Amino acid sequence: MSDLHSRVQSLNARIQAACARCGRSPESVELLPVSKFQPQTQIQEALLLGFRRFGENYVQEGTAKAAAIPDADFILIGPLQRNKAKQALLHFQEIMSVDRPELVLRLRNLARELSLTRKIWIQVDLWNESTKLGGCAPNDLPSILEAWEKDPSLPLEGLMAIPPPEHNTAFTELADFREVWQQRLGKPLRLSMGMSGDLEAAICAGSDQVRIGTALFGDRC
Ligand SMILES: *Cc1c(COP(=O)(O)O)cnc(C)c1O
Repeated sequence: MSDLHSRVQSLNARIQAACARCGRSPESVELLPVSKFQPQTQIQEALLLGFRRFGENYVQEGTAKAAAIPDADFILIGPLQRNKAKQALLHFQEIMSVDRPELVLRLRNLARELSLTRKIWIQVDLWNESTKLGGCAPNDLPSILEAWEKDPSLPLEGLMAIPPPEHNTAFTELADFREVWQQRLGKPLRLSMGMSGDLEAAICAGSDQVRIGTALFGDRC
């Protein structure tokens, strides 16, 4: 068995154990491989193991991989600058790092111009501490939704967050925040939270998607 294959098995075991502990079904949790800084061979190998969607942080890197590996779908999980928005829409299937009204307006214009439909996620930062990682403050969410205007070319899939590592109530705060906005919007929102080191806590708090880099692919090059 390859290294990747055995890491997939231990990750699945971790996810299953976490689900068993909190009474969830393992099928309700998506494992999104994060392939940033990993060579294309790793993605090819993961495709053979049944993965199809891959998170990438950088537009440039993801674009190159998307061109080389047409069988894979790439999801943008890193911060997006306005001037890369077009490239991002063209080469990524979903954009998870939407965090300001200007970016939403830009994406809407471009999606119309390019006749594309792309799922978006709004990245939230409830703790106002990770400016370099992106994410909007809770108070900014209404203005982002206003700019979005339920544009059908950018269906809203959910909320994404990268909570500060030592904040042990972060995942439940995010789950509560999701609940509130589901009610207000009258539609289900998926919640993407949890990474290699903390997926168990995220799953038990209700995460629908864990984004896993190192625990799946090993150290980044
Ligand atoms: C790199 C990254 C991950 C994966 O992190 P690991 O700790 O390697 O699992 C998940 N989400 C985002 C936004 C990332 O940038």
